[in-house]
Amino acid sequence: MSYRGRFAPSPTGPLHFGSLVSALASWLDARAHRGTWLVRIEDIDGPRTVPGAAQDILDTLERFGMVADEPPVWQSQRMALYQQAFERLRASGLIYPCGCTRKEIADSLVRAHARHTTLAYPGTCRGGLNGKPARAWRLRVPDGEDAIVTFDDGWQGTQTQNLATEVGDFVLRRADDQWAYQLAVVVDDADQGITHIVRGADLLDSTARQIYLQRCLEVPSPSYLHVPVVTNADGDKLSKQTGALALNTTQPLVALNDAATHLGLRMSDAAATSLDAFYAEAITAWSARVKR
Ligand code: GLU
Repeated sequence: MSYRGRFAPSPTGPLHFGSLVSALASWLDARAHRGTWLVRIEDIDGPRTVPGAAQDILDTLERFGMVADEPPVWQSQRMALYQQAFERLRASGLIYPCGCTRKEIADSLVRAHARHTTLAYPGTCRGGLNGKPARAWRLRVPDGEDAIVTFDDGWQGTQTQNLATEVGDFVLRRADDQWAYQLAVVVDDADQGITHIVRGADLLDSTARQIYLQRCLEVPSPSYLHVPVVTNADGDKLSKQTGALALNTTQPLVALNDAATHLGLRMSDAAATSLDAFYAEAITAWSARVKR
């Protein structure tokens, strides 16, 4: 099977240091495997998408020497695929409409917390809406042993999550009529034939949901590798929300060497002299660091 990897930024602002680390890790892994590297713009979260940010990210990647091997795809142009997957799940009876408001869910979680029981969505609407209007659509997760999803992460090691007790039935179609990230990402990774997913560890917690959804849709599961997220001095993930600054794009080599160092790659002074020298050294260092 030939390797196909991807970088899937959400265009919520310019590329920042944290997303550069994810881009670089996925690029290095694809190059180390002599594979194909794709870019997918995840622009279906209307309220969070910033006009112009996607092009800005693509331009920055290019300036940094990372150009996709196929034209980038845009999730906003792929709505029909998400609809098809949704219809399939609906026909198999795996999803159901949910009428709970955020407040109702929050209240039930507070009650559950007080009882020291599950913090997952309690499945209130599984048996019907009880007269409430439908808001979101949720995927039914199994009970008992079947709810446990285990996978081997290329960086973080073996991961296990119990979908029933830790997550609960999760949303595929949001109350604001948008496709949820979990559905779009699984449909796209399958449609694009992605074999290896390399991304930030903030998405580690979503992976069991994605693997379960792959099973429901009868598509193969890629292999996963989650690199450590970049945090600020307070330990918060570096992102636009936490005030991360955009990269200094006039000095790609400085930022790239910093990103490689964050990934635990030891770079020589020569790697700061040209993009070619940087990538040659970084690919070798990545291959030695990540054996799979
Ligand atoms: N679009 C997601 C993000 O920027 C990443 C999705 C993924 O790599 O699966 O956080």
